[in-house]
Amino acid sequence: RVKERGRGNFSFYQPQMSAGLLSRMKLEHAMRQALDKGHMAVYFQPQVHIQSQRIVAAEALLRWTDPELGVISPAVFIPLAEESGYVVALDAWVLEQSVQEAVRWHARGMPIKVSVNVSALEFRQPDFVERLTSVLKNSALPAQWLELELTESILLQDAQEMAMRVHQIAELGVGLVIDDFGTGYSNLAYLKKLPISKIKIDQSFVRGLPYQAEDKAIVAAIISMGKALGVEIVAEGVETEQQCAAIAQMHGDYFQGYLCSPALPAEQFRQRLQAQNHLPPAHLESVDGPR
Ligand code: C2E
Ligand code: MG
Ligand code: MG
Ligand code: MG
Repeated sequence: RVKERGRGNFSFYQPQMSAGLLSRMKLEHAMRQALDKGHMAVYFQPQVHIQSQRIVAAEALLRWTDPELGVISPAVFIPLAEESGYVVALDAWVLEQSVQEAVRWHARGMPIKVSVNVSALEFRQPDFVERLTSVLKNSALPAQWLELELTESILLQDAQEMAMRVHQIAELGVGLVIDDFGTGYSNLAYLKKLPISKIKIDQSFVRGLPYQAEDKAIVAAIISMGKALGVEIVAEGVETEQQCAAIAQMHGDYFQGYLCSPALPAEQFRQRLQAQNHLPPAHLESVDGPR
């Protein structure tokens, strides 16, 4: 990006550089600094098993808290980090933090899964599987307690290469989850070929439940397809009891959403888990009795 200006004169800034590029460079610099200064943190959002109403997993969600700007959403900075390539460093850091945190839950007798978002660029790194293997080995977290969230589009480009990678990861014992299901451009064929463990129904389909007939039809279809293929179903963005009841009625397996909790700082999430551990599972109290 350093361009020549005249003989032997180099300058970083070029007037013809677009404002967009400039602000992206500034943003990458700011992200780097935020990570160094401890302004980035991994938060955890509970994933609830609908039948038992127990937290059985947590999604790791990155948070950037700037002293002046406040909390900056990953929906804003992750796409920019993907453009600059910095997302590779961010994702690697989040993975490591998340695995360490899961080890703490396990050490305290609260064994739940941790689910980590992986962007396309990170998933495509030639050394990704190798790094994943060493993160697991160094932490001693059994692989089955880790899940990786991918979007459908990741599997479309270089499909064969990506399929191989998915198989390698599944062989490690790590779960593979399709995020934002239903919003991507996909041919669904990967679902029969690849060892996918879970599908997360995008919140745009959950929002209209239970009243919107179209959303209900789509969600029901995704769930029944998932069942037939032996893939577990998570509903994202569940905010109301009615939405949760609709998902339960359609036999979805898990939900995530503000109805239970937003993503919480690690310490607060641990307290939440601890509180759950002192309560009996919901199904023991139900009239049906234990199953
Ligand atoms: P996602 O993976 O689909 O995560 C779900 C998003 O929905 C999160 O937004 C979460 O806070 C939000 N959410 C959860 N429950 C509800 C609800 O009941 N209602 C509503 N309206 N929203 C809910 P968040 O944390 O802002 O993250 C946005 C996206 O940024 C994520 O979407 C994910 O694609 C990406 N992201 C977050 N952390 C990471 C990361 O560490 N690495 C990568 N590559 N991407 C990340
Ligand atoms: Mg996700
Ligand atoms: Mg999602
Ligand atoms: Mg997403």
